[in-house]
Amino acid sequence: MSTGELVIEDLRAGIPGREILQGISLTVASGQVHAVMGPNGSGKSTLAHVLMGRPGYEILGGSVTLDGIDLLALPTWQRARAGLFLAMQHPIEVPGVPLAEALAAARSSAADGGGSAAPDLAAGLEAEADRIGLDRRLLGRPLNVDLSGGERKRNETVQLAVLRPRFAVLDEIDSGLDVDALADVGRRVQAATTEWGLGVLAITHFHRLLDVLVPDVVHVLAGGRVVATGGPDLAAAVDRSGYAGYV
Ligand code: ADP
Ligand code: MG
Repeated sequence: MSTGELVIEDLRAGIPGREILQGISLTVASGQVHAVMGPNGSGKSTLAHVLMGRPGYEILGGSVTLDGIDLLALPTWQRARAGLFLAMQHPIEVPGVPLAEALAAARSSAADGGGSAAPDLAAGLEAEADRIGLDRRLLGRPLNVDLSGGERKRNETVQLAVLRPRFAVLDEIDSGLDVDALADVGRRVQAATTEWGLGVLAITHFHRLLDVLVPDVVHVLAGGRVVATGGPDLAAAVDRSGYAGYV
């Protein structure tokens, strides 16, 4: 069981000439679910990208540590190896690379870094695909190529389940999912919090996901700042009244 903390402290970041994240602080402990809600353009995806080290963003201040390891000093692949996983809002197509191959590469890179993944990759992949209702035939296809939006999100979830990262950032994993798929995905991630102590930062607009993936803490992001923090009732309030009271 994983125990530790992902600590984001006064993080400021942006693109050249524009500060988008204006001082974000939050701490996700292993096994916890933190939801991040907020209007379009509030900086949610920027936060996800900056945490994972996507090129094109500048760090202007603050820190991000995973069990004391300075993530901002590391290239993306080493952040992954340290235990951070990103499910992208818009998963990219990778022609020529099947999911199984991508995961085998990720796993072998993690192996000497103390990865806690299950030993049999192929069996694990099929079991996880079945568990969230992803057609097994898609596992051999090039990553995300010609997949529907919903299939891509299930695909991201299968990757998470097989790689067993310590902390996962889910950027609108619910977008493009129908009600049943949303429940499957939400339940899988929720189970991971107790199975191996996954810590989750779930970016979402919808209370529906949070009915299955139950947040310990809810943050509302607006204008690149956390403007409200509370329990699950905060998500319900946002669902009822929108963001008008927070921006
Ligand atoms: P959210 O995910 O909350 O909808 P984003 O983080 O995607 O918001 O975007 C926040 C703001 O920063 C938006 O105004 C967006 O246009 C801008 N932005 C984010 N990333 C980039 C980028 N790489 N280049 C230019 N503008 C960006
Ligand atoms: Mg976004």
